[in-house]
Amino acid sequence: MAINLPRFDSLSEAIVDLGAVAHNTKLIAKAVGRSQVMAVVKADAFGHGAIPVARTALAHGATWLGVTSQAEAIVLRRDGIDAPILMWLYGPNEDLGPAVKNDVHISVASFDHLMCVCRAAKKNRRPASIHLKVDTGLSRSGTPLAEWYDLVASAREFQKTGLVTITGVWSHLANAEDPSDPYLDFQVSSFRSAISTIERFGVAPVFYHIANSAASLQILSLHFDLVRAGAALYGIEPAKNIHFGLRPAMELRAQIILIKTVAAGTRVSYGSSYLTRRDTTLGLVSLGFADGIPRLAGKKASVLINGTRCPIVGCVAMDQFVVDINRCSAKVGDVAIVFGTGTTGEPLASDWALWAKTNSHEILTGIGNRVTRTYLRPEEQHDNY
Ligand SMILES: *Cc1c(COP(=O)(O)O)cnc(C)c1O
Repeated sequence: MAINLPRFDSLSEAIVDLGAVAHNTKLIAKAVGRSQVMAVVKADAFGHGAIPVARTALAHGATWLGVTSQAEAIVLRRDGIDAPILMWLYGPNEDLGPAVKNDVHISVASFDHLMCVCRAAKKNRRPASIHLKVDTGLSRSGTPLAEWYDLVASAREFQKTGLVTITGVWSHLANAEDPSDPYLDFQVSSFRSAISTIERFGVAPVFYHIANSAASLQILSLHFDLVRAGAALYGIEPAKNIHFGLRPAMELRAQIILIKTVAAGTRVSYGSSYLTRRDTTLGLVSLGFADGIPRLAGKKASVLINGTRCPIVGCVAMDQFVVDINRCSAKVGDVAIVFGTGTTGEPLASDWALWAKTNSHEILTGIGNRVTRTYLRPEEQHDNY
């Protein structure tokens, strides 16, 4: 089990700007008009902190929360959050009692999952709200269209006996980042055919939903009743060449804890892959790949120190990396900004994503629990987080 570390210093810190989360939530809510917004706070809100992000999003236009696991849903309920929550991944033998007792909506992606929900509903003598999930082409979770009719038929029988309430029908898109991809049309027509099947049964779920961040912001026809926004909430721009005005919510920074000058020709870090070309002043930063700094990014990455970009030299180690600070006048205790909003010249999480050949999601969710989270509150809000 992961431990909560006691805090003795702020060697490394992720500053989470809840004002940015508020701004992004409002922007998404405006873009989707009458559809509701589910704030996807899975994976500890992409590393930003599920509870403060959930509360901020709910205060600024979101009405639903989305999580992956039952545990994530229960953590929100225990904090007193009573907004509707959808959870979507569990094993078909999991005891879903806690979710049922806490009014968590449960995704049903197969007959096994339906049975699992019904067992929990029966045992706890209370109907479970379910969202039936159809696979429209992502080939991940969800029932294949060929089996959709049978799943709906079974769910309807269990609804008649009072074990489940079919509240939603949903699916997930493979590539809404690129609206010109014809696969999108294919997925949407599959979704519509799944909807017409369930409507022919006389079942009328309240919520149809398929849109993620990218679809929420750029494909009006996919908003349906509810959109599920993750990336955009955290300021990740979901389309390749369009800037929607989202604000990155996390700034990652760490102190320089040691400085020294080494001679030209000195090897730096493990594997000795880096040789200084001249006498070089090196700064040591206490962040490494165990904190989510991608090991592979080291060759291209730079951080901002006192307004100057300084390259990382040598490979990133588990707990620390080394920076060439020849071009900036840094002293011990100065701060290296690893990524942030980009407004003062620091890299963005998306720059790190390019350097590490991954996406911003992986960078943000990778920031580990040794990094202290500090929260900047949205100005108009004074709740306790
Ligand atoms: C993560 C996730 C989302 C959020 O997607 P974004 O692209 O981050 O907005 C929505 N739905 C499901 C099923 C997810 O797993």
